[in-house]
Amino acid sequence: MTKVDFYEVLSVSRDANDQELKTSYRKLAMQYHPDRNPDDPTAEEKFKECSEAYQVLSDPEKRAAYDRYGHAAFSGGAPGAGGNPFTGGAQDLGDIFGDIFGEMFNMGGGGGRKASRVQRGRDLRYDLTLEFEEAVFGKEKEITIRRMETCVDCKGSGAARGKAPVTCTQCGGRGQQRFQQGFFSVARTCSVCGGTGTLIVDPCQTCRGETRVQTEHSILVKVPAGVEQDTRIRYQGEGEAGKFAGPAGDLYVVLNVKAHKFFERDGDDLHCVMPISFPQAALGTELEIQTLEGPATIKVPEGTQSGKEFKLRGKGVPHLNSHGKGDLVVEIRVQTPGKLNKQQKELLRQLSETMIVENTPTSRGLFDKVKEMFS
Ligand code: ZN
Ligand code: ZN
Repeated sequence: MTKVDFYEVLSVSRDANDQELKTSYRKLAMQYHPDRNPDDPTAEEKFKECSEAYQVLSDPEKRAAYDRYGHAAFSGGAPGAGGNPFTGGAQDLGDIFGDIFGEMFNMGGGGGRKASRVQRGRDLRYDLTLEFEEAVFGKEKEITIRRMETCVDCKGSGAARGKAPVTCTQCGGRGQQRFQQGFFSVARTCSVCGGTGTLIVDPCQTCRGETRVQTEHSILVKVPAGVEQDTRIRYQGEGEAGKFAGPAGDLYVVLNVKAHKFFERDGDDLHCVMPISFPQAALGTELEIQTLEGPATIKVPEGTQSGKEFKLRGKGVPHLNSHGKGDLVVEIRVQTPGKLNKQQKELLRQLSETMIVENTPTSRGLFDKVKEMFS
C-alpha cells in the first residue's frame, strides 16, 4: 500500500508552522474520531493516518528526517536510524491523545480545567557500544547528544523580548470551549491556544515561539567496571527540556557490549573452552591461558577427562558496585585426532592393545561416576 504524503494528509503546505499543523490536525482528528464515527472504518483509517502524520511532523527531528527521506525514514533500516538517541515512539501518541482528547470527551463535569503550559521534557535514550574489555574494566567515554533545550533568549516563555503572552480571545483564558453533542455538553480543549488560555502574539525570533531550541551537548559517560549488556545508566535532568521552561527529562545511556573472541560471560564469571590432545589429557600437562589480566597457568593432571572444568578464582569480571570478582572457568575438551600418519596409527594400535575398555552400554549416571573414579 502506498502511503499518502503526510503534508497532504494534514492538508497543510510543506512549510506549515507548528501552530498550523496543530490546528489542522485538531480539526481533522475531531472530524474522523472513531467515537464520532461509529461503524465507519474509513473514518478510523483517516483518523490513524492523521495521528501518524501529526506525530511525525510535530517533532522537529522526525519532520527533518521525513522531509529528507520521505516515508523511508521510518521504515526500519532507514538512514540514520541506528544509534538515534531520539526514540520517542509510542508515548508521543499517548501525549497527543491525552492532550487533545482527554478533555474533549470529558462529558458533563464541571470542566474549566486549564491545561498547564509547563511540561516535563522527554526522556532520551542513547545507545553506547562498548568493547568487551571496556565493560569488564570500566571506561570513560564522551558522547554527544542532540536535544531540545530551553531557549536562552526568551527564557522559555516563547514571547519576544519584553512581550508577555496575552489572554486567548477564543476561550477568554479558560482553555476550553464547550459545544453541544446530542444530549451532552462536551468540553473541548481550545483549538486556538491549545488549552493554555494564553496566546503568544509576538513570538521569540530565536525559537519562533517554540520555547526550546535544538542543541548539541557533550556528556562524559563514566561506565563502571562490571557492566553488562543492556545495563542502563541514568543521567537525571539530562534529557530534553520541557516546554515553557518545564523540567528536563532524564537521559538513559543503554549499553551494548561487543562479544569477546573466546570468553563468554555468565554473570560475573567468564567461560572458555580449551582443546587439548588425548596424550596431553592422559599424561597431564601445563597450559598457559591469556586471561583478561595477563597470562595464567592451568595444571592439567594425568587422566583428565573431556568436560573437566578448571576454575581460576578472581580472574572473572568485577562485581558491579561492590567488591570482589567472578571466576574464570576453563572447560577442557579432549580432541580425538582426525588425520593420522602411518607411524601415529601404528603407535596407537600398540597402545590400544594394552588398554581394555568394556564396549558395553551403560547409563549416563553410572558412566559419569566411573569416569570420576578414573580421573
Ligand atoms: Zn525563544
Ligand atoms: Zn483559548
